[in-house]
Amino acid sequence: MSFTELGLSPQILRALEEKGYTQPTPIQAAAIPIVMAGHDLLAAAQTGTGKTAGFALPILHRHIGLPKRLTPAPRVLVLTPTRELAAQVLDSFREYGRHAALKSASIFGGVGMGPQIDALRRGLDVLVATPGRLIDHMGQRNVDLSKVEVLVLDEADRMLDMGFMPALKRILVALPRQRQTLMFSATFSDPIKALAQQFLSSPKEVSVTPRNTVAETISHIVHPVPTDKKRQLLIDILAVDSRVQTLVFARTKHGANKLAEQLEKSGFRASAIHGNKSQNARTKALADFKSGKLTILVATDIAARGLDIPELPVVINFDLPMVAEDYVHRIGRTGRAGETGRAISLVTPDESGLLRDIQRLLKQEIQLITVAGYELSQPLRMDANAPRPVQGQRQGPRQGQGRPQQQRSGAAPGRGTSTGAKPTQGKRPAGSGHGHKPGLGDSANPAQRRRRHGGSTAGRANRPMGSREA
Ligand code: AMP
Repeated sequence: MSFTELGLSPQILRALEEKGYTQPTPIQAAAIPIVMAGHDLLAAAQTGTGKTAGFALPILHRHIGLPKRLTPAPRVLVLTPTRELAAQVLDSFREYGRHAALKSASIFGGVGMGPQIDALRRGLDVLVATPGRLIDHMGQRNVDLSKVEVLVLDEADRMLDMGFMPALKRILVALPRQRQTLMFSATFSDPIKALAQQFLSSPKEVSVTPRNTVAETISHIVHPVPTDKKRQLLIDILAVDSRVQTLVFARTKHGANKLAEQLEKSGFRASAIHGNKSQNARTKALADFKSGKLTILVATDIAARGLDIPELPVVINFDLPMVAEDYVHRIGRTGRAGETGRAISLVTPDESGLLRDIQRLLKQEIQLITVAGYELSQPLRMDANAPRPVQGQRQGPRQGQGRPQQQRSGAAPGRGTSTGAKPTQGKRPAGSGHGHKPGLGDSANPAQRRRRHGGSTAGRANRPMGSREA
């Protein structure tokens, strides 16, 4: 199936050709005909599947040639959970629609209202917005939603996680009943199904990734580590090849900041991205990371959601997420489009319950590799009462901070080509292929440096609290 066979307009085909897209991704092949036919759509698709073009292309197709909107009454409203995603979705509409002569704008918090009001007043066809800021503009009557023909809820699961349900309901009542609604979500959880019932009408369902599964091209590794040595272990891993672009996840904003500062002090080009940073700082950090000026981006789940960072070879979970589904979102940034990716998690004893949740969700054991010098006094607990951190609890080491960058010769987990070690034995994680090594790159050192505790497929466990940034 080609884009031409999907029947997209010549203006769009031209833009796609210029972008170098040769064929639709599975979500695009499935969603585009449904949207073009005017149906409502409920799509399960993670970031990295090409979902944005999955809705942007057919929407643009249907609106090409219509008279331009000269009032603050958009025809298309796309709601996203985060500012970054709003900016990215707008970029996509503009790129795919570069020959389509449609007007588009985005509105989100963290920046002044003035330029957004100006953009709304100039008139627009496509509005991409975060719910909170859209409500502010609605309150000031800067925007008229009564003419919306298509509503897109992008990353709807995350909007629910972030507590946007009341805002979504307020927006819903301002929209015409007669409209097309498209909802995209990484998972089809029960709350998502309930939301779909409220917002969609007889939707077609499309699912390109089975519920809560991850790309088979990703290898998962866990390094158990004592709490007071976690930061040093991360530095050791990163030091093996400081040129490898790495996205590091921290659980809290404070933790992300501290970690980025420590990494900078240790000589890495690192920055943090989280909800407390100004919009300018977030945009700059992301741009610097994309351009290679920064090699390490430390992010919280919410800030990183939906970020389009292509071809990341590795994602490191400095902290495990409180909610297992977020693990799937995090590592969705690696192993895209058939490339192999690595997901490395540093797990302290107090996080073993979270690891258990993740293994249950993935339905696979994750290889545990103990790095020499970072042994735990006892193996990680993987039973039903395995501990979980208390939300908001300070993460990371209490001692040993700011130690100068140091590499034990041959003992550091491999990011490059010559350091690191193979695990001595044990199961490979499903889908990791062969030749799996700890760390980020190929490694050839002897096995005795690491000892494998062995993973386990956990049984039933309680779901931890919400996944908001603390
Ligand atoms: P998304 O899941 O929408 O965030 O898209 C993930 C990445 O895939 C983005 O960098 C897109 O530019 C890219 N992409 C989307 N569709 C295609 C396609 N058909 N061929 C190649 N790349 C694509």
